[in-house]
Amino acid sequence: MILFKRSPDLKEFLLKNDRSIGFVPTMGALHKGHLELIAESRRRECLTVCSIFVNPAQFNDHKDFEKYPNTIDSDILMLEQGKTDILFLPEVKEIYPKGFEVLEHYELGYLETVLEGKFRPGHFQGVCQVMSRLLDIIEPEQLFMGEKDLQQCLVVRNLLNLRFPQVHFHKCPTLREKDGLAMSSRNLRLSPEERSQAPALPRALNFIRDNIEKMGWKNARLEASNRMSAAGFRLDYLELARSQDLSIKDAYEAVEDLVVLVAAFLGSVRLIDNLPLAAKH
Ligand code: AMP
Repeated sequence: MILFKRSPDLKEFLLKNDRSIGFVPTMGALHKGHLELIAESRRRECLTVCSIFVNPAQFNDHKDFEKYPNTIDSDILMLEQGKTDILFLPEVKEIYPKGFEVLEHYELGYLETVLEGKFRPGHFQGVCQVMSRLLDIIEPEQLFMGEKDLQQCLVVRNLLNLRFPQVHFHKCPTLREKDGLAMSSRNLRLSPEERSQAPALPRALNFIRDNIEKMGWKNARLEASNRMSAAGFRLDYLELARSQDLSIKDAYEAVEDLVVLVAAFLGSVRLIDNLPLAAKH
């Protein structure tokens, strides 16, 4: 694996390459979910570039930014074991050479007003800012991102349609721990007791999936949120939405592709997850 810290060096290297470039953007503290994105890029025979950059612009809560785990030595080992071709590890000034005052504004419409957009004001602007910059530097043909952050996938797809139509987007399934908890860098911040409570979140999603047809959405949601509260979670949201555009539903319909999305705090750690409910035709 070759490590680049400066964008001109990376650009120069990539110009000489004639393979399809697959890009996996991350914020580090890597786990198997990230490695699965890299494996998918490799399966498609891409020259695989992973970036590690904790993007200050996408943190609406400064404490969350400061506490974001940094495990760079083990990240590098994992990337090497995963046969990543290139690691891009830029500093803040490399990505934001003009600082944070003059950033472009992206028209994200509805997606910025619901769910993560509503609870984390400015978050998706920050995501678009860093993604635009990284895509300008790396110029990949293929981009690999996780369904765990479904709303982010939709936002980035919009960005690609607007500014990078040549990039092919791959949404990769969520990797989970054996107890069902979605892998996440934030799981490292859970205390042992919180970690033992955390599987209540995916269990609540599974409860909804298994009971929504007979109980209806409102009752299934109430029961699931009660179970999460009993396990110590404080809910930001638990919503049913259309998978395609995340328009919020107030009733279950078996003929549509829907998804249940949740965000909740356990102590000071905010976890998000979602579970698709495929249409029954
Ligand atoms: P992050 O480092 O959390 O910003 O995530 C980098 C990429 O990895 C994003 O595209 C995430 O959606 C994806 N990702 C994070 N967790 C998982 C997971 N458990 N399974 C699959 N992809 C994931």
